[in-house]
Amino acid sequence: MPNELEEFDFENRIVSSEELPTDTETGPSLRPHTLKEYIGQEKAKSNLRVYIESAKMRGDSLDHVLLYGPPGLGKTTLSAIIANEMGVNIRTTSGPAIEKQGDLAAILTNLSPGDVLFIDEIHRLPRQVEEILYPAMEDYALDIIIGKGPSARSIRLPLPKFTLIGATTRAGQLSTPLRDRFGVMLKLELYTPRELSDIVMRSASILALPITEAGALEIASRARGTPRVANRLLKRIRDFALIQGDGRIDADIAADALRQLEIDALGLDNTDRRMLEAIIRYYGGGPVGLETLAATIGEEAVTIEDVYEPYLLQIGFLSRTPRGRCATAQAYHHLGLPYPAPGTPMTGAHQPGLFDTNEP
Ligand code: ADP
Repeated sequence: MPNELEEFDFENRIVSSEELPTDTETGPSLRPHTLKEYIGQEKAKSNLRVYIESAKMRGDSLDHVLLYGPPGLGKTTLSAIIANEMGVNIRTTSGPAIEKQGDLAAILTNLSPGDVLFIDEIHRLPRQVEEILYPAMEDYALDIIIGKGPSARSIRLPLPKFTLIGATTRAGQLSTPLRDRFGVMLKLELYTPRELSDIVMRSASILALPITEAGALEIASRARGTPRVANRLLKRIRDFALIQGDGRIDADIAADALRQLEIDALGLDNTDRRMLEAIIRYYGGGPVGLETLAATIGEEAVTIEDVYEPYLLQIGFLSRTPRGRCATAQAYHHLGLPYPAPGTPMTGAHQPGLFDTNEP
């Protein structure tokens, strides 16, 4: 594997849709607090409005909600908004943080009536912990086994009526019994550049940054459909605007800063380009299996699936077939590589210079 790959900071790529340590908000919060402030996701929002209003009219708690979609699209934000709109408290935890049944039992017994329990990455909940959730979600009860062996007996403790909101990047990995217990399932989609540009304008106004509409759209069109990336790019471009300009973010400053950050016109960075190039040059454009591809570019298969792929699939650069991933003609074109005519034999898998091209 070429050294430059090892040196590349995959963890902290600026267009990563996953949360980075540098994302910690030091200034005012960019998170919207109401459904009205939450931009885009019109379908999910209009359904939620109905469910929330109906629950409030009935004086009941909201049905359990599963939010799924790639990282950075606003699942955590939306769950806090749901609690806010329902006028209840939210308790936040995550699948990997709950290791034992007792951990979850403690959280559940501490909830107040109507509270929202938000479990991020719910697909990573250990199976035996998950089993506690079934009666909790269905009957608002906790089944506890007391004693061991033949004298063991089960007692049932009542729980307050609560709303579970689960968030996951991979709904397919949820067990069927868990998935079936969610009354509401909402899929969050990648945002359009127009919606992202509204998000950038909103964030700029909160941060008191002068920005033009064209500047916001330039950022939005390179943010991979993801608000988290859009907000992160805005903050980085603010620095360039301050140091290399007069502080104002317009289309030119934004484009120039993005060029210096090595993010291209479509929001692809070196990692995306290397992945596409690996498929093209090592595997003749594909199909190549996910695990093989992961090993080739030194990434985890789940990261490719959750973080890189959704956007590349969305813009039509990648296709997923039963035999693996393929680079499309558009990807060849974007990288300035000739698209082979059908039937062209695959060039060797050890072609030198794979990572020499498209270097800044
Ligand atoms: P997820 O939980 O899906 O990974 P988050 O809820 O943490 O994503 O959202 C990431 C960031 O993007 C948040 O800090 C928030 O400021 C912003 N954000 C997400 N969705 C929206 C939206 N619809 N409107 C405005 N900002 C949003």
